[in-house]
Amino acid sequence: MLSQIREPWLKRASHNLMRGEEGRAALDQTLNRFYDLLLQAVASGDPGWLKPLLMEWASLRTEDELQQDELSLSPVLGALVAETLGVARQELSAADALELSEALLPIFTYAYGEIARQEITVRVAYVTAKLEKVRAELEGLDRSKSDFISVAAHELKTPLTLIEGYTAMLREHSKKEEETSPVVLMLRGVDNGTRRLGEIINDMIDVSLIDNDLLSLSFQPTWVNRLIEKLVEDMTPLAAERNQRIIVIPFDGWEQATFGDTERILQALRNVMTNAIKYTPDEGEIEISGRLLPGFIEVTVTDTGIGIDQEDQTLIFRKFGRLGAVATHSSGKTKFKGGGPGLGLPITKGILEAHGGTIWVESEGYDETALPGATFHVLLPIRTEPPDKKNARLFATETSGPIS
Ligand code: ADP
Repeated sequence: MLSQIREPWLKRASHNLMRGEEGRAALDQTLNRFYDLLLQAVASGDPGWLKPLLMEWASLRTEDELQQDELSLSPVLGALVAETLGVARQELSAADALELSEALLPIFTYAYGEIARQEITVRVAYVTAKLEKVRAELEGLDRSKSDFISVAAHELKTPLTLIEGYTAMLREHSKKEEETSPVVLMLRGVDNGTRRLGEIINDMIDVSLIDNDLLSLSFQPTWVNRLIEKLVEDMTPLAAERNQRIIVIPFDGWEQATFGDTERILQALRNVMTNAIKYTPDEGEIEISGRLLPGFIEVTVTDTGIGIDQEDQTLIFRKFGRLGAVATHSSGKTKFKGGGPGLGLPITKGILEAHGGTIWVESEGYDETALPGATFHVLLPIRTEPPDKKNARLFATETSGPIS
């Protein structure tokens, strides 16, 4: 019966699917193939005969169709089903048309299901490719940002060195001036400015070293209690300017030594402390403590400051992760909410991760009135020897064996 209606079917389907003459031969060829497979499917009772053609159709979808989220194949299949049933009704007796429709029903049902599956597969592949492209673009953007930081930092360093040189010469020149003379005061201003600029440039260089996995560490025996003592010594004058108290609470195992880059770890802790001072109002308290964990030493810095919202607690460790809600108003390094470039914590995290450690923050939230405070947790692995062999040998002879 299906063979009988082939000619009228082909005519109608071809006419309805394509108005112009262009491409008609190709369409007729496809329709003939469809019909051949349909005949096979009906004869064998296996709708799977249509699968290769349906897969081919799904894979032929154009970029435009995929972009517009169009389901272009289901309507085509719908038109073919309608033509088949229409032609059967026209060309065959009512009983024959019904019988043919019954035979075709499971085949067309299968075809719809298969088309939907194929279309989804093609769409998922398309969206995945798109996402991959966006990811690559973002990676490129991040790379150029990182390249920019690196180039800018190195370019700024040369003129800064010049300014520092000339300032030193001027200072030498005005040695005989009174301490309160305008020239000496102005020179002090220039000194402060250049020092701050130097720190920012160094931060930019550190960030680009970390970004490019180029941070090199020089491992040496490091005692956490001595590190904390030095930290407190460095930070006390800054805290005093803000009438803040630094409290150290010794903890079990804080005499523990580990191998690490002492200077870099101190830099990381200094960043955390600077922030604790900066984001805590005058008269506040900063407490340094910690605990010994299996394989790690944890140092905690707790402040009584403005705190950090839960959703920002990961953001602040990203480059330029300054928080919009915190209205910074001055560029002083430790003034209350004194703004900074937002590089301190990413550097701290980079240094700690390069050691095999990490850092995270706990805070109930951000509130400038209730002052919930924040606790930064710094985790350092306990190493009994430096990771690189050359250094290990160096310290083995000096300390006659790994430290414990
Ligand atoms: P910067 O201080 O230069 O802005 P950081 O990377 O050191 O950059 O810190 C990023 C942001 O994290 C800060 O802008 C601030 O909003 C928030 N932050 C850091 N430490 C604290 C803290 N102890 N209390 C409250 N907010 C903090």
